Parts: sequence; structure tokens; C-alpha cells
Amino acid sequence: MTAPRLRPEIDSLPAYKAGQMPAPRTDIETYKISSNETPFEPPEAVRRAIEQAAATVHRYPDPFSRRLTGALARRFDVNEEQIALGTGSVAVVGQLIWAAAGPGDCVVYPWRSFEAYPIWVQMTGARSVQVPLLADERHDLPSMLEAIDDSTRIVFVCNPNNPTGEAVRRDELTEFIDAVPSDVIVVLDEAYREFISDTDVPDGLDFFRERHNVVVMRTFSKAYGLAGLRVGFAIAPEPIAEGMRKTALPFGVSSIAEDAALAALECEDELFERVRHLSHERDRVWQALADQGWDIHPSHANFVWLRLGERTQEFAQACDAAGITIRAFPDEGVRVSVAEEEANDRVIDVGKSLV
Ligand SMILES: *Cc1c(COP(=O)(O)O)cnc(C)c1O
Repeated sequence: MTAPRLRPEIDSLPAYKAGQMPAPRTDIETYKISSNETPFEPPEAVRRAIEQAAATVHRYPDPFSRRLTGALARRFDVNEEQIALGTGSVAVVGQLIWAAAGPGDCVVYPWRSFEAYPIWVQMTGARSVQVPLLADERHDLPSMLEAIDDSTRIVFVCNPNNPTGEAVRRDELTEFIDAVPSDVIVVLDEAYREFISDTDVPDGLDFFRERHNVVVMRTFSKAYGLAGLRVGFAIAPEPIAEGMRKTALPFGVSSIAEDAALAALECEDELFERVRHLSHERDRVWQALADQGWDIHPSHANFVWLRLGERTQEFAQACDAAGITIRAFPDEGVRVSVAEEEANDRVIDVGKSLV
């Protein structure tokens, strides 16, 4: 008897490793700082929008999320046709790869970087070309450029990079995009855009406005605090955005997600105040760990990264014992989300106990 078969690409797919939940503890409060979520609950106005939307869930959502598309077009001063929505920007990344790459094509990206890239690429039957990060955690843009050939359809720049937190600067990105062949799509994945305080790190939209092959990915999951509702978007040249709308999961963005995102856009002042607070906390944690003697590079996102090599497990276990669940990449390093001050303090304490 022969068993049903899956496609070989799917069989060999790396399983997505989600951030761990902390084990329940009775002695101390625990914190999940493994998924780069905001520690803040939704603002009152967002919560109200969610409650009101609950009354209409017997209806399908608007398949084109027209109200949110319109609001985003106004917010970012682009055309509605230049926007593609999806169930989180992880899905929007997938929509683009499905739209632009298939068997025989290549997708170039830095590594280590966002774990969704290799998964989507493999699903479509395209091939991943992973270009190692530099020793100082930055993108190796010259090598990424060299990796591009006639089969390349897309190149990803993760800015700032998840999980290492480093960011590509304006001048090097300009030089890079100028050198990428005009038929290759350059994706600027800016999931943490709002946390950047360094003015040398460019806004991807400036590149989008000047080129016909630049796609900017943004999300409501991080700064806007809606990770649980799954809504993200791309701002892309019209033909590319249209392709991404075609490959979207039909009715994927729920009416609750759409209403919550609209409400979140209305309270950006409040949300961005929180972002500023978290960015300060990030710098505080970074400085404390650096002062302790850890080899740590500045982060531009809502997390910090320690390249610990073989000490990774030891650090992760110490965090576990301290009631904080971080993201460990075995034998590489740990990514620690910046969260409640108490959680951040515990990270600093763990660092101190292990130097
Ligand atoms: C978190 C993250 C996203 C977006 O996640 P969604 O919740 O799917 O919107 C996209 N890219 C990177 C690099 C991220 O870290």
C-alpha cells in the first residue's frame, strides 16, 4: 500500500518556530519576550472598534478592505492601487513571492534574517540564495548584489533586520538599489520602521516614490499593537501590488482586523508615544548589557540581539529560570524583545549573572 504523497518542497519545509510561551509559575510573574510583541494592551478606542465590529461577524469582510486601503493611501500619500493588504505582513511577503517567483527562479536575502523568507520561497518551488550577514550583523549588500543573476526575481532587505536589529543606512541602500537590475524587485521589509530613531536609516517610502521596482512592507503587528488580529500591507508599484492582491488569501483580512487597524491609525499619537518609551527601554537594556561587557550591536527595533554562539542555551535557560521567555537560535544567539520594565530589568540581571 502506498501512502498519499506531499510535494517534496513541502515535506522538507522548515517548520516555523513560534515564540515560546512561558511555563506557568506561582512564585513570580512571567513575561513572554520572544515574539517582539508590544507589552501594551490596545488603546480604549481600538478596543471599542473591535467590540463594535464583533456585531457584524456573521457577514464576510470586504474582500478588498476598501476603507483601510483608502485610509492607508491617505496616511502614506500613495494611490489605493499601490496598496496590497494581507493577514499580517508575513502573508504579504508570501503573496509577493507567489506573484513573482516560481520553479527556476531565485530569491536573494540576507541570513540570518526573518524566518518566513525561506519558508515561502521553498513553498513556491523557487530557490533561496542566502547571503550571510557581516560580522558586525549588517547586511552584506555588495555580496547580495553579486548573488543576483538572471534567475533572480526578488531581493529582500530587512530593515532593521530580524533578529539582529542592525539597519541599512541611506547611502549604502541608495547605492545598492541603483545597482540592482531594474527587473528585480527590491523588498524593504520595515516591520519595525516606527522604532527607528537614527535619521541615517532611510524611510523605504522615499525609495518607493522614485523607483518602479521597490516594495515596502509594513505591519500593524508591532508598533500598532495588533499582532493578534493579523493585518499587514505592502506599498508597491501598481502592477506588483495588483499581483499581490491576486495571490492574497480571499477574505483574509477580517472585518474586526480592518476596523481595529482603522482605529489604530486614528490613535497614532498614543501608540507612537509607547513606541518612544519602548525605544528608550531598548537603549537602556542595550547600554546595560554593553556596560556588562557583552559584545552587542545597537538595535533599531523593539528587541536586542546577543550573538552568544555556544552560550546561547545557557543564556536562554537562565532567562527561563528568571521567568522570562526569550527567543533562542541554538548556537547562534538570543533575541530578546523589549517589554515591561520589570521584564527588561530581569534581562539585565540575567546578563549580569552570566558575564
Ligand atoms: C514581525 C515581522 C513581520 C510582520 O509580521 P506580521 O505579524 O505577519 O505582520 C514582518 N517582517 C519581519 C521582519 C518581522 O519581524
